[in-house]
This record gives sequence, C-alpha cells and structure tokens, in this order.
Amino acid sequence: MKKIALISLGCVKNQVDSEAILALFKEPDFKIVDNLEDSDAIIINTCGFIEPAVREAIDTIYEAAEYNKILVVVGCFVERFYKELDDPAFPHVDLWVRFKDEYKYLPQMIQALFSGEKVAPKFDIFDRIPSESNYFSYIKISEGCDNFCSFCTIPFIRGRFVSLPEDDIVAYAKKVVAEGGKEIVLIGQDPTSYGKDLKDENINLVHLLKRIEPIEGLEKIRMLYLYPDGITDELIEFVKTHKKMSRYFDIPVQHCSDRILKLMNRRDTKASTEEVLNKIKKEIPDVILRTTLIVGFPGETLDDFNELKEFINKYKFNHLGVFTYSKEEETKSAKFPNHIPEEEKIRRKEEIMQIQARISYEQNKALVGKEFNAFIHKINNNDYSVRCDYNAPDDIDGNVILKTDKVHQVGDLVKIKIEKAFVYDLIASEL
Ligand code: SF4
Repeated sequence: MKKIALISLGCVKNQVDSEAILALFKEPDFKIVDNLEDSDAIIINTCGFIEPAVREAIDTIYEAAEYNKILVVVGCFVERFYKELDDPAFPHVDLWVRFKDEYKYLPQMIQALFSGEKVAPKFDIFDRIPSESNYFSYIKISEGCDNFCSFCTIPFIRGRFVSLPEDDIVAYAKKVVAEGGKEIVLIGQDPTSYGKDLKDENINLVHLLKRIEPIEGLEKIRMLYLYPDGITDELIEFVKTHKKMSRYFDIPVQHCSDRILKLMNRRDTKASTEEVLNKIKKEIPDVILRTTLIVGFPGETLDDFNELKEFINKYKFNHLGVFTYSKEEETKSAKFPNHIPEEEKIRRKEEIMQIQARISYEQNKALVGKEFNAFIHKINNNDYSVRCDYNAPDDIDGNVILKTDKVHQVGDLVKIKIEKAFVYDLIASEL
C-alpha cells in the first residue's frame, strides 16, 4: 500500500479538486496521510493565476522536494506553464499532470512511478474525501469562465465555462447532507452564469437552489463569487424568502469607475453595479456584503481611485478584499499603456484598507445586539470560533468568538447574540 499526501494551494475551488483527487486513491492500493514525512508520494495541487501564487507554487515544490518522496505537481501552475516545465530548474519533480484531461489517470501514473502497476482510471468531481470539517461542504457548480476580464488568467488556465450537470450537483448535495453536512457553499468561477450553456433553458442558479434548498437536514446554503450582472431579482427574492439561504452576498465588483470597468472588460457599469447593490440592501436590509477590488489597474488615474474611495464609503461593505493589479503576460491588460508603479499600487491598496478598517468597525458595531444562528466552527482553548451569516468558511471574513459555559462539538448549531465589536472580529454570547 502506497501512502499519498496532498498539499492544496490556492482558492476553495482548487480545494474541491484536491478532495476529488484524494478520492481517486482508494484502499487497498493507497492510503491518504497528512504527514509529508510519512508519505511515499506527495501531490501538490497548485494555484498560478497571479504572480504571488506562482511564487508560492515554486516555493512549495522546493520545500516538498526536501522530503525525497515521489513528487507530483498538478493544477493551475502546471496548466499555465505546461510548455515551459521541461525545465532543469525542477529536476526533483517526477511528474507534471495537467488537470481535466489527465487527473483521472493519477493513481495509474503514480503506481507506474513505483512499480508499473495499472489502476482503473476514474475522476469524479462529486466523489471526494472532504478535507474540511464535514458540517459544511463546498460544491462546485461550474468550471471555467467565458468572461475574459482583461486582467484575469482564469479563462486561459481553466478553460471555457461549463455548467456541471444539475442532477449530479443535487445528488452530491443530498449525499453530503446524509453524511452529516449542514451547510453547502456553492462555488465556481462564475456561478451566476450557471445553466447558460445547458440545453434546458429553464435551468439557472435559482432553479438549482430550488432543488437543493428542500433537502431535509440541510440548514444553510451560501453562494460565493457572484458576478454583479448575474444577480437577478429572482435570486435576491429567493435569498430574501428562504430561511436556509445565508443573507450574504459575495460580489467581486473589482472597480466602480466606468472607464476602468470598460478597460477591465467587465460587463457592469457603475450604474448597474449600484443598482444591484441598492436592490439587495433595500430587499434585505440586514444583508452581509463582501467584495473584492483591484487597485493600480493600468491607466487608473487619481480621479478613478478617488471615485473608488467614494464608492466604498457609500456602500460600506462588511468585508472587502483589495488586490494590487498584477501584470500577467497572457492577459490583454498586460499590453495596456500606463502601468502604475508598484509603490503607487501598494499606496492605493493601503489607503483603501485604512478606509475599510473604519467601515468594518462601524459595520461591526452596528451588529452588536443582533442575533444569529451559528455553527461551531473551531474549538479553541476556552471558547469557540463560530460561523453565521457574517462569515464564510474560507477564512477571509472576520472571526466570531463565542464565549459560553456550554460544551459543544464542531458543527453544532447554536443561537448567538453579538456582544462586542472589533475592527474585524466579533464577540458573542450564547442564547
Ligand atoms: S469573471 Fe472572474 S474568473 Fe472570470 S475572467 Fe473575470 S475575474 Fe476571471
């Protein structure tokens, strides 16, 4: 029996792939181990869509090589740099595997590296070994993206948009709930486009939600990465009227200046973005809003930047992530004129973060006294880290710390009241 360890880098979409990869390695031929030292082979599932992720992938490969095990590298880094990987800089990598077309042969290929044995190929995104606590589960509903935002490498790395079959998604959701799952987090590069490529024109994101929501035993559904123009009135209404839906919208708006949005090849304008945010805030006043922005995009003037500052002051997102523009060779924006110097990009990022710290504190203070149903997420020494509508499980949003005398297990559903606010964290009591 060969022992396999896996290192998953990057986003939660990659984590879903990692879990599906682990599920390929079945006993009696294989055993999954956590400790790299104990393993016979290490698989690294890389990210590679921006330069820091590329650096992390390279560092991780070098660190893993120190263990002198069979070393296999898969994921976005491989897909992006596939043609250049015959590089003597990586002599310790035994195998580079491209995703999609070659993942399913991983056990076979790894066996071949040991002994040449053959294992039947099978790769199924809905057959996974969860790497997280099993009270929540990420479910990928689509692969790839057709939007070709001018800064983004994802469409080149992950390919064109494909909706996964609705029946398979629903069957998998039922399976995770039957196995104790209480929360489902729907993800994809572009989840609001769900169904657009399927033959049945009735199938869309709300149609899918209508089939998942009634699953008995399921307590919460959350969606991440919603493209603004894909947030329909029907979707807002569904979130508003269904108790199982997290009152949480994660909408990466990227920018608000019409000029920059156009250069970014985004479909939204400032007016259409504001319209959707206004609608959500009006229909669901207690909504938790999250967004991500890019500053220092080529040609971003101080006027564009000031407009962005006004925008975030106006909409007061509960959670906001800001990235400096990263010049990635294969993207259209890499060839744009007027690239902003790195120090200026960092200065703009820090300015946004300072503004957001104040907004986040204001928003958190407004939550004091509010009650939520929350899951016990982690057990710390004397208290619990919990998750409610306020925070997604990807560790980007702030923490909610529950102070209670009662004893709980991870995944327990409890009623909490927010007692105290900090800039990014909240303290709660149990009701
Ligand atoms: S929608 Fe997201 S994944 Fe698709 S191209 Fe734009 S930034 Fe990239």
